[in-house]
Amino acid sequence: MTLKERDQKHLWHPLTQHKLHPESIAIKKAKGCILTDEDGNDYIDAIASWYTCMYGHCNTYITNRVSEQMKQLDQVVFSGFTHEPAVKLSEALMDILPDNQNKIFFSDNGSTSVEIGLKMALQYHFNTNDKRDTLIAFEGGFHGDTFGAMSVSGLSVYNGPFEDFFLQVKRIPVPNGHNHQEILSLLKTIIAKHQVAGFVYEPLVQGAAAMSMHNAEGLNAILEFCKAHNIITVADEVMTGFGKTGKHFASLHLSTKPDIMCLSKALTGGLLPMALTTCSQHIYNAFYSDNMSKGLFHGHTYSANPLACTAALASIELLQSQDIQNNISRIIESHQTFGEKIKQHPEVKSVRQTGIIFALDLNIEMERYGNMRDQLFKFFMNHGVFLRPLGNTIYIQAPFVITPTQLNTVYQVIEKALNTF
Ligand SMILES: *Cc1c(COP(=O)(O)O)cnc(C)c1O
Repeated sequence: MTLKERDQKHLWHPLTQHKLHPESIAIKKAKGCILTDEDGNDYIDAIASWYTCMYGHCNTYITNRVSEQMKQLDQVVFSGFTHEPAVKLSEALMDILPDNQNKIFFSDNGSTSVEIGLKMALQYHFNTNDKRDTLIAFEGGFHGDTFGAMSVSGLSVYNGPFEDFFLQVKRIPVPNGHNHQEILSLLKTIIAKHQVAGFVYEPLVQGAAAMSMHNAEGLNAILEFCKAHNIITVADEVMTGFGKTGKHFASLHLSTKPDIMCLSKALTGGLLPMALTTCSQHIYNAFYSDNMSKGLFHGHTYSANPLACTAALASIELLQSQDIQNNISRIIESHQTFGEKIKQHPEVKSVRQTGIIFALDLNIEMERYGNMRDQLFKFFMNHGVFLRPLGNTIYIQAPFVITPTQLNTVYQVIEKALNTF
């Protein structure tokens, strides 16, 4: 029996309706930008396996470092203990994070990093005797699949059965360059009626909302409003972090810095699951006390796993290397050229780009998980490219190490799809 067949016996996959999609593609190995399935077919991983493997799959710089670490220290409780990989990682992060970030809290996936960010924001106010019960988030945002993260997410496709159990959240539109004043007056009405603890947002690019991109000045104005009203700002950079936007973090494109940041995905270069919630000294100080109960009583068994910390450390070194920075510039330029060309295509409604994140909308409307979308996905796979269209959006978020030839293949296959559908 093939893996594909054996899979169906016991496995339940994420975000999958198994009755409609019984078959999974069995991947045997991966190297650089190439995924190879059990029949020996190769696919260019043009979305870096959900934006994680930015330095290429099985990157030997990272795997060697992790295998050395494996012989030294595998795992230890991080409550009451510490270790070199975590200490070194915290120091490396201070070099690249916005300069107001000063404390690092570990967890193991993007959703929990958001969960922790929300808890920090809520407990900050609780600890300072200013109890607040409402959060603000963008329409169409996505922050993960745990309860707090789902509550602040605006994409109801995922959340239907759970909405009755959510935290209290008020939603605002994303700034589009014209609705500045409208958003600020909405914020004023919200704070007149509600005690707002925090504002959670994906800065500049909303990933699950089909790489929807918004206006930096408008976002700055919102962040300034929040600061003025002691609303804790939580930047969910789980997707945008680590070089995707052309800077190390999307928040570095903005003049107002977040109080709290959530990081995961590319953090470990796709090798091991890990996440971070970072915060400013100001937030941390509200928890620092002679009183036990003012501490942040949140912890995961694998918090700051030494292997994951080592993978993250090696990944950050790669991110800062001239090689990777040159690649990022090359991909940005290459996308610009492709964008100029492809936006003329009659099947293309619009194109957009932030850093190495490129997206185009097709002229036709499609359901997020509809039939057309499935056919498009299959077309790409049959042509050796792994792309995952979201509704009528086709986006590229390839590893930084994608070669010019591989990137051209991705462009050509997209163009071919436009001419076919
Ligand atoms: C992927 C993602 C998450 C959730 O991360 P998981 O590791 O899948 O739990 C949260 N926020 C953003 C912006 C993401 O892209």
